Amino acid sequence: MIFYIIIVFIFGLVVGSFLNVVILRGNRGESFTRGRSRCESCGKELAWFELIPLLSFALQRGRCRSCGAALSRQYPLVEFGTGLFFTFVAIYYSPSGVEGLPLWSNPRLVFELTFAFVTLSAAIVILVSDIRWQIVPNGPVLILFLAGLVLTAWRAAVSGSFAYNFAIEFGFAFLVAFFFFALWFLSKGAWMGFGDVKLVFATSLILGFPVSVAAALFSFWIGAIFGILLLIFKKANLKTHIPFGPFILLGGVAAFFYTEEFLLYTGFSGLL
Ligand SMILES: [Zn+2]
Repeated sequence: MIFYIIIVFIFGLVVGSFLNVVILRGNRGESFTRGRSRCESCGKELAWFELIPLLSFALQRGRCRSCGAALSRQYPLVEFGTGLFFTFVAIYYSPSGVEGLPLWSNPRLVFELTFAFVTLSAAIVILVSDIRWQIVPNGPVLILFLAGLVLTAWRAAVSGSFAYNFAIEFGFAFLVAFFFFALWFLSKGAWMGFGDVKLVFATSLILGFPVSVAAALFSFWIGAIFGILLLIFKKANLKTHIPFGPFILLGGVAAFFYTEEFLLYTGFSGLL
């Protein structure tokens, strides 16, 4: 078990290191398959030992070895966060680990983990891009949208009546997105961006009804609590622009785990 956790965590660190490149080059509109990584300040190409997740940052004390410029905290945070999230996902899908057998002898688990890791990676890129630059990039939203279509089709297929259930599920996701679209349109982009509308369409397809509705509700609550805390601690005023994408993602995660309890508590358990 502990071996399984360590392997997944290290795998998450390496993927996180790659996601950092995707996030930074994506924001600059560069290709992330070509060329080696460079220092953000002096442009010097990084050697292999400067690319080891977490370790390089710690050994260099967060500074470039050539020019001494401070490295972005995004590097260790995304690496560590991805490692942590991947570990949670792995434990969620396989609580006992895969002791005694090679992972690939369990194709269902391999498929679930791959699907979850890809989806999570796209969400991490969106999360960081939105926090840093108020941008919800199209590429990872498209990945989430495709993942949502696959999951919606899967749920419809096992439900027995594919066309009917797919149409209903797609319709509900569209309605949730349309609600966000209305807020975007009415506020002229002040309350949320159009990227948030696309993002919530994708996450609603992933979550399905009624989790998607709980997720939307949770995202507004989390956003409101966060906004009030910022006002109380004077970190923001009423005109401060706060990206909404992180709340959509947080609300989605909260709804994924707690929709059932929420509906039971509020008396809407008939929706399940
Ligand atoms: Zn440098």
